[in-house]
Amino acid sequence: MAIALHSFKIDSDGEIRICHTFYGETEAEAEATQKAHAKDCPHYGPALAQGKTIDITEDLDELPVPEEAALLELLGFEDEQWWKLRAPTEEEIDEEGEEE
Ligand SMILES: [Zn+2]
Repeated sequence: MAIALHSFKIDSDGEIRICHTFYGETEAEAEATQKAHAKDCPHYGPALAQGKTIDITEDLDELPVPEEAALLELLGFEDEQWWKLRAPTEEEIDEEGEEE
């Protein structure tokens, strides 16, 4: 059994624009990953500390594996046609590079 911990950040205007999902073999492991990420994430960390997230755990058969088909199955998209794979644009890759 594995766990997905979906954490939706509620913005100051009440809207949700970001959801982080943390995975672990156990709920404690997923929460440890969540806490570690919160330390380094300047927008999500304060929201979590202030209780401005809605967190939902999901039981999984296994942790995600880094294969497109397996991830689509994990998301429940394997038989659907409304999803699309999205690769970052060159512009986005450049922007990420500038942040470092
Ligand atoms: Zn983050």
